[in-house]
Amino acid sequence: MSAATLYIIATPIGNLEDMTYRAVRILGEVDLVAAEDTRHSLKLLTHFGISKSMTSYFDHNQQFKGERILNMLRQGKSVALISDAGTPCISDPGYQLVRDAVAEGIPVIPVPGACAAVAALSASGLPSDNFTFAGFPPSRQGKRRSFLKEMAKLPGTLVLYEAPHRLEETLRDMLEVLGERHVVVARELTKIYEELIRGSVSQVLETVSQGKVRGEIVILIEPGEKIEPESLSLEETLQTLMRDDALSLKDAAKKAAEITGVSRSEAYSAALKLRDEA
Ligand code: SAM
Repeated sequence: MSAATLYIIATPIGNLEDMTYRAVRILGEVDLVAAEDTRHSLKLLTHFGISKSMTSYFDHNQQFKGERILNMLRQGKSVALISDAGTPCISDPGYQLVRDAVAEGIPVIPVPGACAAVAALSASGLPSDNFTFAGFPPSRQGKRRSFLKEMAKLPGTLVLYEAPHRLEETLRDMLEVLGERHVVVARELTKIYEELIRGSVSQVLETVSQGKVRGEIVILIEPGEKIEPESLSLEETLQTLMRDDALSLKDAAKKAAEITGVSRSEAYSAALKLRDEA
């Protein structure tokens, strides 16, 4: 066990069998465990037979708790950061602590494991070579639609977290802003009621609107089609350039060759032909 080290430890997102051996070992060895909710994490540690000194580290006490944790690290102690479920810092507190530790040259070591976004993506059947994880979309409709418009410009699969009571409205906005695409709603992963609802946005919306969808949710939506700029043929380009004698035949041929990539002589012959046919 290295002293003065901050360990970022992933914990299960439901199924306790997803706890890693390494996570159990390191949690048992560190001097302090910083947890999002100490009562919640106490159950996890107890399940694995770990009894450890704990402190809370959550959204609203990050600043002052962060300083206390950094002090421990400065004194050469080792600290493990865990969140309620999954990987700390992924839509969970931790980033500021990591940033500050890195700035002070304190080693920060990840102990990987469950992460809902990655678990959902891996079973989605959607392209995974390029994806954007964008956390929770804004809860207000106007902001959510603007957010989705920005997301529409990005290539790759879009992965979002969403609260169950907002699922339907978010899917409706997706249909409106991103159009009809393949979508996967991954619910309660690794738990008893695990479910992956797949289909077009309208199909999934129909399923979702039939009953109350409960539990924890990841929404994944396939990438939009790449829209290639429409390219004009050589003849169409020449016609546009020669319309109303805006350019001389020679200049129009030169420009058309540049635009379409054909040789100047080919463009010139085509321009002559067009003039003769006119
Ligand atoms: N840090 C966590 C991770 O690595 O996945 C995410 C924390 S974020 C506060 C909680 C959100 O993650 C939930 O609202 C839900 O969108 C998603 N999530 C967490 N566990 C899940 C599960 N078992 N199935 C589906 N989504 C889950």
